[in-house]
Amino acid sequence: MADSTIIFPAPGKTHRGLLAATSPTLAGYEWPYLAIRGVADGPTLCVIAGIHGAEYPPIDAVLQFSRAIDPATLRGQILAVPIVNLPAFWARTPFVCPADGKNPNRAFPGDPHGSFSQALAHLVFEQLIKRGDFLVDLHCGDLVEDLVPYCGMQESGIDRVDRSALDLAVTFGLPYVCAEPPTGGSAAGTTDGAAAAAGIPAIYAEAGGIGQLRQSDVDLHLRGLHRVLMHLGMVDGDQDTLNTPTMLREVVVVRAARGGFFRKAVAAGDTVQAGGLIGRMVDLWGEPQEEITSPVDGVALFVTTSPAISAEGLLIGIGVPG
Ligand SMILES: [Zn+2]
Repeated sequence: MADSTIIFPAPGKTHRGLLAATSPTLAGYEWPYLAIRGVADGPTLCVIAGIHGAEYPPIDAVLQFSRAIDPATLRGQILAVPIVNLPAFWARTPFVCPADGKNPNRAFPGDPHGSFSQALAHLVFEQLIKRGDFLVDLHCGDLVEDLVPYCGMQESGIDRVDRSALDLAVTFGLPYVCAEPPTGGSAAGTTDGAAAAAGIPAIYAEAGGIGQLRQSDVDLHLRGLHRVLMHLGMVDGDQDTLNTPTMLREVVVVRAARGGFFRKAVAAGDTVQAGGLIGRMVDLWGEPQEEITSPVDGVALFVTTSPAISAEGLLIGIGVPG
């Protein structure tokens, strides 16, 4: 029998449940979750992954993380959902939900009467995110996307929330940290933006990509989650020292005006200069169409690895220092 709302167990216990939605749009799906209750008081941390269902290291990190928690040594509570976008996971669909072709991570805080992605966002926001005092949403490059690890948060204009989220993002320990404006910049409607607007400090963390399940990428997420637990006082331990991350002020997304076959000239992690070559588009006869250059100085945070690019297709995300 699935739970119609999240159930936390008695202190010192873990409840492995299935969350069912009341929305008819979401009928037929039940979301595995773990609700872990420590033996002492503390905050509730919500950890989710798989809003993009083919991002495997984050999913595995939530699976491994939630099973490794010992409730007998935990202060506070952890609510963990390894796979939010179940239709995309089963269909191995990148970027969107196959039920409606929309990106659920542009649909927050959601709409119970909207399409599948909007109803899913509403379920996640109401049942998971709002149950937490803090949110960590794990991501990576998608099936055809390579990526350099980074972490980000969206500012809300609420000073306490923004400072807390930025502390979490730095604590997570990845080489780049992006603090995005309250508008969300190039990505409005995200989990972290909606959480922040509701007064819940939230971060997203990106490590891994191109459909691979590498333990080294999973480990970056696991180490980050453990650092967050220590930072929030939920477990004991000493933080290992980290290099100071490079701060980014925005992620500039470059798209192709016309579709075609794209020969990229930049890899994830490369430094790019304004006016520098990102790649060359040829048409499907091989005829040169366009040389695509960077509009800004920055670092290639994520790069589309597939050469098959449709009109307005995403080529690269460039993190701009500042
Ligand atoms: Zn993602």
